[in-house]
Amino acid sequence: MCGVFGIFGHPEAANMTYLGLHALQHRGQESAGIVSSDGERLFGHRTMGRVQAGFSPADLATLPGDRAIGHVRYSTAGGSHLKNAQPLGVDYARGSLAVAHNGNLTNHEALRDRLEARGSIYQTASDTESIVHLIAMSKKEALRDRIAEALEQVEGAYSLLFLTEREIVAVRDPRAIRPLCLGEIEIASGSGVAHVVASESTAFDLIGARFVRDVAPGEMVIISADGVRSEFPFAPEPRKLCIFEHVYFARPDSMIQGVSVYEVRKAFGRRLAAEQPVDPGDDLVVIPVPDSGLPAAIGFADRARAPFEMGLIRSHYVGRTFIEPQQSIRHFGVRLKLNPNRAVIEGKRVVVVDDSIVRGTTSRKIVKMIRDAGAREVHVRISSPPTRWPCYYGVDTPTRSELIASSHSVDEIRSYLTADSVGYLSLEGMVESVRSLEVRGGDAGSPRPSADSYCHACFSGSYPIPFTPASPNRQLRMVSG
Ligand code: AMP
Repeated sequence: MCGVFGIFGHPEAANMTYLGLHALQHRGQESAGIVSSDGERLFGHRTMGRVQAGFSPADLATLPGDRAIGHVRYSTAGGSHLKNAQPLGVDYARGSLAVAHNGNLTNHEALRDRLEARGSIYQTASDTESIVHLIAMSKKEALRDRIAEALEQVEGAYSLLFLTEREIVAVRDPRAIRPLCLGEIEIASGSGVAHVVASESTAFDLIGARFVRDVAPGEMVIISADGVRSEFPFAPEPRKLCIFEHVYFARPDSMIQGVSVYEVRKAFGRRLAAEQPVDPGDDLVVIPVPDSGLPAAIGFADRARAPFEMGLIRSHYVGRTFIEPQQSIRHFGVRLKLNPNRAVIEGKRVVVVDDSIVRGTTSRKIVKMIRDAGAREVHVRISSPPTRWPCYYGVDTPTRSELIASSHSVDEIRSYLTADSVGYLSLEGMVESVRSLEVRGGDAGSPRPSADSYCHACFSGSYPIPFTPASPNRQLRMVSG
């Protein structure tokens, strides 16, 4: 997964982009990059690791101009190399172009085969590079038309930002799988507003920008000195917003399609408590796995009328450690991050709420820790359905064989986790929780979502866009964003 941020018409464009990326850091920590423009040239700096570590004031000073785009990237199968960091910048016959991409192109391998057969030489392992080649090859005059022609040839998920000397173009794929939203910020000098665009609205909060609206499915927003122009160059498709953004990926203080991610997670927790109750009693306590299970645990406790307590305390200083654990120190890895709070666990029947189980290894360690801290029973509740299928649209999930729920029943998972019970939220419960909040409080201008307006392929295996696998003689080298 990745995060993108762009700003046009601000005297401190690169600094603002740095802050925007900082707020989007949860969407990717492998690499970060900013490309700015002063209207005549493009300037870029890309780095491995996090934004804060990779951008010094001196680096930011090398990025002049009043417009910039930035990108944070999540580690995926494609390999961890600076050459794959974005924004990707190129010089071609029409000038300079930089692009930042969140999402995955499902026909990337076929596209790359076709383009390489026609002589394209790829510099990166990134699927985003195919878009750049297609734009460069287009015979159309205007950038808008070149981008539209290129994107008509790609399939998959894309929330994209393009930067040239003159403009920023933001595009969201017709199914709107990945989020993207628009905002504006007053310029200190009182000379109007700068326009901003970001994967999540939380990036606007940090820089003091106002949320304006989500970019619509299939919309292209062109931001230039002439203002903001909106176009719809693609054939419409049914909306398929990634429901996993609501489950885990987005920050809880973000709004997606007019709905608070935090409220959605609480609603998941309430619904989970109704669907998967635990026997009530004075000795029952609901605890979250921080931070991912927090809002859902609040919702669960509310509905179950049970006390909510912080039964696991998270260290905020987890990084690399140079001390190797002795074999005698059990659970060292997970203990670095989470420690049970005996004061609220001992002698209790504990409901521990998390957003999802992937491989099951973390949950297993957590159950053991809670039991060792004196819990009488441990009931695991998960605020999404079993994760059974890999994502081809930008979320970094392991292969099917590594997903515990793809090969184990809920009872087998319970036995592996050594829990007294395990309960997952149903697919219908999850979809209905988001949908009803969107219908009540969502974007006034957007059509009402139906139960089919979400991609939940990781839970259901129902993929809205077919994935074209790599040909057998080609190593999988796709890098998702
Ligand atoms: P596991 O030990 O593999 O079952 O990991 C489960 C934990 O990973 C849960 O606490 C989730 O919040 C978290 N998680 C779920 N999906 C992802 C993802 N795509 N990337 C990183 N962490 C995830």
